[in-house]
Amino acid sequence: MSQPSTFFITTAIDYPNSRPHIGTAFEKIGADVQARFRRMEGADTYFLMGNDENTIKVSKRARELGVEPQPYVDDMASQFKEVWRALDISFDDFIQTSEPRHHAGCQRFIQAVFDAGDIDKRPYKGLYCEGCEEFKTAKEAVSPDGRELKTIEEAEAAGACCPNHPKTPLRIVEEENYFFKLSSFQDRLLAHYEAHPEFIQPESRRNEVVNLVKAGLQDVSISRKGFSWGIKVPFDEEQTIYVWFDALLNYITALGYGSADDAKFRRYWPADVHVIGKDITRFHCALWPAMLMSAGLPLPKSVFAHGFVYRKDEGSGVLQKMSKSIGNIVEPMDLVRRFNSEAFRYYFMSQCPFGGDGEFSFERFAETYNTGLANSLGNLYSRTITMPVKYFGGVLEGSSAIDPTAWRAGLDLPALVEELRSLVGSFQYAGALQTIWLQVIDAANRYIEATRPFALIKTDPAATKIALVNLAEALRVVSILIKPFLPRTAETFYAAFNFADAQPFDRVCFADAASRPPGPDLRVTAALVDGKVAPLFPKIDLKAEPSS
Ligand SMILES: [Zn+2]
Repeated sequence: MSQPSTFFITTAIDYPNSRPHIGTAFEKIGADVQARFRRMEGADTYFLMGNDENTIKVSKRARELGVEPQPYVDDMASQFKEVWRALDISFDDFIQTSEPRHHAGCQRFIQAVFDAGDIDKRPYKGLYCEGCEEFKTAKEAVSPDGRELKTIEEAEAAGACCPNHPKTPLRIVEEENYFFKLSSFQDRLLAHYEAHPEFIQPESRRNEVVNLVKAGLQDVSISRKGFSWGIKVPFDEEQTIYVWFDALLNYITALGYGSADDAKFRRYWPADVHVIGKDITRFHCALWPAMLMSAGLPLPKSVFAHGFVYRKDEGSGVLQKMSKSIGNIVEPMDLVRRFNSEAFRYYFMSQCPFGGDGEFSFERFAETYNTGLANSLGNLYSRTITMPVKYFGGVLEGSSAIDPTAWRAGLDLPALVEELRSLVGSFQYAGALQTIWLQVIDAANRYIEATRPFALIKTDPAATKIALVNLAEALRVVSILIKPFLPRTAETFYAAFNFADAQPFDRVCFADAASRPPGPDLRVTAALVDGKVAPLFPKIDLKAEPSS
């Protein structure tokens, strides 16, 4: 037997100085859908997530709370994982960059880059933003009185800040640091983008990166002097590795790079895709591949940069970035508790195109839930189960001999399944869900209206049974197609009949949606209360709820 192909997918690692918001969750769900889809398709999939802990921000936050950094980051990591589990994010590993496995791998890597001659020590004087943890130019600094700043000295004297951190004045930092010679990788990077157009996705992001690299790259400072929290530079104990250089390495240290047990690294590297936010593409598409080139390691096959979720103000209709200072942050658990995790996943995957930007408001969330889940999907489910129970005692005798394709007459299901595989595989989730809802679920609901089994039963039980067998088949098809997006609903649908007698649910792939496998006659196996199914998605009336 041939080995299954591997699929290694990662998300950005998060700063644990505050809890995750819905924008962070958007990325994780998008990656999770891909991981679940690849597993269904038979790939040996490895899905990595983690937290980015070796930052000054984190040690400062811990100090504010009066705790040591390590217990602080450990506690935050368990809070993050709790949220991700509540959203059914199926990660295989969660790395904390304060872990020994990460430290050891980082030191091994930076040594390899140093030995390759791509690191040297230089004096450096720059305007530093503690919020961004990076140096800024005088041009980027914003003066409190709005005047133009020409030098970094002028900026510091004026109490200028970076645009993202208006409360943290920039200060001049002067020290000797280690530099990575990023500028010398310009030609090799451009050649790589040229030879591998799929390396940066989507296309719009690719153009940004190509233009940035063409304009010329600066060497980057990769160490800091005099910090105790962080990873020591192996060839100079006075210096710690700068957060970005260390953070990117999580993708290989989690696989055991540089350790005695590097079986996972050999098996899964290079990554098939790094899923990240569009604000950090330059780190992943320029700095990271250059680092790997220097260390002589293969480059990731692709980087997918998703868009942002903006908060829509219900009163004014204005779209805003979510931020602590505006006070408009929505945490995933606010929505999971009020609705459920499936509703959360459905909203963000169907309403916010993954490669572009999306918006969130409670109003639109409730509307999407009521239309797509309570009405469309929920109705199909309850009618498909209730009628066989009511009319045939839950057993559809002779069903395996009945043609189950009448409900989708006029729909080329095999072609549609191929189209969906391509959409999901290329992160076009909103398009995939729209196709499933408009073409498959609506076809099933229209079939109910056309055949009217609830009336037909009075005159023609045999024809009624044919209609119900068809509806059961529609439910089976839908359960397979929504499996990466709505794993719980998919499982409930599949368990509503004895479909697993023909094929266990953990073995189905998208292609199985196109034709029913041979199996015994169908019977309802859903849990019933007084012969009825409990509604999966009870309708929500936001106005009737106490506001939170
Ligand atoms: Zn800043």
